[in-house]
Amino acid sequence: MLTKPTQPNSSIIDVAGIGVGPFNLSVAALLQQVKGVSARFFESREQFAWHPGLLLPDTHMQTMFLKDLVTAVVPHSIYSFLSYLVKRKKFYRFLSAELNCISRAEFSDYLNWAAQQIPSVQFATEVENISFMNNQFKVETSKGAYYAKNLCLGTGKKPFIPECARPYLGKQVIHAANIGLNSHDFSGKRVMIIGGGQSGADIFLNVLNGYWGKPSKLNWLSRRANYQPLDEAAFTNEYFTPDYVDSFYKLGRQVKEREIRDQKLTSDGVTQACLLSIYRTLYHRFDVLREPKWVYLLPHREMSAVNQTDNIYQVQAINGLTQETEYYDADVIILATGFTTPTLNCLAGIQSRLKFDEKDRYSLNEHFAVDWDGPAENRIFAVNAGLHSHGIAEPQLSLMAWRSARIINHLCQQEIFDLESSDGLISWDQSAAQPPLKQAI
Ligand SMILES: Cc1cc2nc3c(=O)[nH]c(=O)nc-3n(C[C@H](O)[C@H](O)[C@H](O)COP(=O)(O)OP(=O)(O)OC[C@H]3O[C@@H](n4cnc5c(N)ncnc54)[C@H](O)[C@@H]3O)c2cc1C
Repeated sequence: MLTKPTQPNSSIIDVAGIGVGPFNLSVAALLQQVKGVSARFFESREQFAWHPGLLLPDTHMQTMFLKDLVTAVVPHSIYSFLSYLVKRKKFYRFLSAELNCISRAEFSDYLNWAAQQIPSVQFATEVENISFMNNQFKVETSKGAYYAKNLCLGTGKKPFIPECARPYLGKQVIHAANIGLNSHDFSGKRVMIIGGGQSGADIFLNVLNGYWGKPSKLNWLSRRANYQPLDEAAFTNEYFTPDYVDSFYKLGRQVKEREIRDQKLTSDGVTQACLLSIYRTLYHRFDVLREPKWVYLLPHREMSAVNQTDNIYQVQAINGLTQETEYYDADVIILATGFTTPTLNCLAGIQSRLKFDEKDRYSLNEHFAVDWDGPAENRIFAVNAGLHSHGIAEPQLSLMAWRSARIINHLCQQEIFDLESSDGLISWDQSAAQPPLKQAI
C-alpha cells in the first residue's frame, strides 16, 4: 500500500496530478475513495473551467451524461452526474426534460461542482518544473515545491493554428478555442470560418443567429467532402469500450494508424442534431423568409494561404473537386482547426528520461504509464496522450472513468476497482471468436 495522506510541502505525496481538466479530475474523484493514498492535483486556473472559450449558446455534448467522472466504475460515487442532479435539486425536472445530450454548459457546471468538492484539487497553482532525484519527483509550482512518488499528466491539448494563418493571429484572426473569451462585433463584416468539425458547426450556428451581430457575409470552409455527421451508430460505439481499447493496444503501429484514420468521424464529425439545426435555420432564413443570400457553404476546400492587405484578409483555398484555386475576402477569420499536443515546458527537467516514438509521442504501457528510465515504482501516468497507442477513445470522455480506475489499480498494484469486462459483442481477434479447444480426453 502507499503512504498516508500528507500536508502540502511537508512530505512526499503519492500522486501529483498536473492539470485539472475532466480527465485528471476523474482520477482525483476516484482516488478520493482509495484509503491510504495521498494525492494533490495542481491546476493553473483560478477555478475549474472546461474549454471556456467554446461554451457558446446552443452547444451540446457529443456523449451521454452517464459517461461522467466516475459512473462507469463506481455508480454510487458522490461525484456522479446523478449525485449532481440530486444535490442541485433538479433530478425530476431533468427527467422530464428528456435530454438525450445535455448542454455543454450543464456538463461544465457538473465538472465544476465536482471539482469544488474534491479536496485534493488545488487551483491557481501552475506547475513550472519537474525534476527527479532520490526516488521522488520535485514538483515546483507557483505556490512552492511539492514532492511526489508518482505523477499523472493531464494538461490537455493546445489550439492548432495552420501555418499560413499564424502571422495574422490577433483580434481578427481568432482560434475557435478563444472565441468566447472576448466580446466581438461582427456586424457588417465578412466572416470566414475554417473547419467543418463540431467547433466550426457550433460557431457557424452562432454567427448565423447573430450572436456577435449580423455579418454582411458568412463563408464556412471545410476540407471534408461535405459537412459530415458524427458516426454514433450502435456498433460504432463498440470502439468506445474497454474491450476494444485492449484489443487495439495489441495491434501493430501501422494498423493502428490506419484504423484511427478510418474511425475519424466517430469523434470528429458533427452531431446529427447540430447539422439538422443548421439546415433548418438555413431553410427558414433563405427559403421561407427569403433573405438575400449572405451565407455560403464551401466544403471540399483546403485553405492553402492567407494574405493581408490593410485590414482585409484574402483566404486562398484549393477546391478538391475542380482542383482550382479559389479566393475569398474576409474581415474576420475564425480557425476551427482543432487541437494538437503541446510541448510541456514544465517537463524539461525529466524530458530526456521519457521514451517517445518517432513522432514524439509518449510510449505508453497499457496502464497509461509512460516508459521512462527511472525506477519502476515511480510512475508517470499520462491521460489524453495515447490516441496513437490506445485508440480513438483516448481523447474522449467515454472511457475516462475506466481509464482512471486502470491507472489507480496499476498505481496501487492491486485490483482496487473491478475492471473485468464480460465478452464483447464483436470478436476483434480470433481468440475472442473461437474459445480455446477443450483438451482431448
Ligand atoms: C469544445 C469541446 C467540446 C468537447 N466535447 C466533448 C464531448 O462532448 N464528448 C467527449 O467525449 N469529448 C469532448 N471533447 C474532447 C475532450 O473530452 C475534452 O477536450 C476534454 O476537456 C479533455 O480533457 P483534459 O483533462 O485532457 O484536458 P483539458 O480539459 O484541456 O484540461 C487540461 C487542464 O490542464 C491545465 N494545465 C495545463 N498546463 C498546466 C500546468 N503546467 N500547471 C497546471 N495546470 C496546467 C489547463 O489549465 C487545463 O485546465 C470536447 C473538446 C472540446 C474542445
